[in-house]
Amino acid sequence: ETSTSQATTAAAYVHSVYESVIARNPNESEFHQAVKEILDSLIPVIEAHPKYRNHSLLEQLVEPERVITFRVPWVDDQGKVQVNRGFRVQFNSAIGPYKGGLRFHPSVYSGIIKFLGFEQIFKNALTGLPIGGGKGGSDFDPKGKSDQEVMRFTQSFMTELYKYIGPDADVPAGDIGVGAREIGYMFGQYKRIRGGHEAGVLTGKGLLYGGSLARKEATGYGCVYFVNEMLASKGLSFKDSTVVVSGSGNVSIYAIQKAQELGARVVACSDSGGYIHDPQGINLDTVKRLKEVERLRISEYVKEHPHATYTEGFEGIWSIPCDIALPCATQNEIDEHAAALLVKGGVKAIGEGANMPSTLAAIDVFLGAGVLFGPAKAANAGGVAVSALEMSQNSMRLSWTFEEVDAKLHDIMKNIYKSCVEAAEEYGCEGNLLAGANIAGFLKVADSMIAQGV
Ligand code: GLU
Repeated sequence: ETSTSQATTAAAYVHSVYESVIARNPNESEFHQAVKEILDSLIPVIEAHPKYRNHSLLEQLVEPERVITFRVPWVDDQGKVQVNRGFRVQFNSAIGPYKGGLRFHPSVYSGIIKFLGFEQIFKNALTGLPIGGGKGGSDFDPKGKSDQEVMRFTQSFMTELYKYIGPDADVPAGDIGVGAREIGYMFGQYKRIRGGHEAGVLTGKGLLYGGSLARKEATGYGCVYFVNEMLASKGLSFKDSTVVVSGSGNVSIYAIQKAQELGARVVACSDSGGYIHDPQGINLDTVKRLKEVERLRISEYVKEHPHATYTEGFEGIWSIPCDIALPCATQNEIDEHAAALLVKGGVKAIGEGANMPSTLAAIDVFLGAGVLFGPAKAANAGGVAVSALEMSQNSMRLSWTFEEVDAKLHDIMKNIYKSCVEAAEEYGCEGNLLAGANIAGFLKVADSMIAQGV
């Protein structure tokens, strides 16, 4: 009876923190969603250890250490001044300098950056490397912009951002809309302003000036390594499996590459316009050239591979029957309806390459159906993990080989999987890797915060 009343109390406490997050951050639904997902898994931890509640740990965690919003003016190719909004949320520095990407996309607002920054805290903790959580970006839309416009925008963005970042303070990287080109322009601008070569201030840099081998591949490869661990626990593997991967950016491309290397047939991928279905298996060289070099739409694929089909809209991709689904596009791309379609199609494992690609209702569908579920903050942690390895190499002023970095990435993903399994087991939610990831990440951050005082 005592344990029942304690359980109610812990759940009520967690719920009251969630309610206050909604009240204090109105109209930020993505942030509310990310907070709810984590808080719900922490109920058994709060129950078992009163110290977290005594330190108001949850109240501290959900409040960013610092939120920076700034004006980004730039001149377009017609000579007109454009104004965008820039953000950097420095969420938590308990275990290292703030670390997390920058997203350039018209949908960006405070709620998106806060959800991403909040997720980043736990993801970064799971890597086992000394990095705190942060995120930033802008509502700038890179689509259709000239190279010169992208350069002028990113330089203006950095002209303000530089004040708040540094190799030991806050280390941004890429995310949607920010790749090697944008990181290069931002690094150049930071260096011009600072008058020194501080290589560790940004990660995802080009290989010629301080970038790490295997960083580009890391998120996609890491996601496949993680799913491979889940599959192996049930005696399954990628070999001869049918795989659907959404997106066609950096994460998707290298998830497809590694899945193919492990013997899978990847039959579909997408962009914001629609998806291609190639039952013979996607030709990755074509996708890479279209997206990485020519910056064209994925619909162009069917011109070169006429046996494949293109369908408009992104949700339909989940109606393709598959063994393994890797959502690598964006948040909330799988709702409960799409999840039900995947289950109906026989899906056995989900690996979240994007951040928060499944809604809370979709996750319930997967867990309820006994599908192996690799949550984003564990499954996509390979990208930021290799970013941390890029920082290490920058500090040492040397670089590791591709094989060395890839081997470290592989180990890190295996360790993350193990931490998730063990934490889930310890707190009575065996087999639930979502709960395991949230709990394992939380414990590291929470204990670091307590150790460092208020
Ligand atoms: N944007 C990536 C993520 O969501 C990588 C961040 C980084 O490398 O700092 O984790």
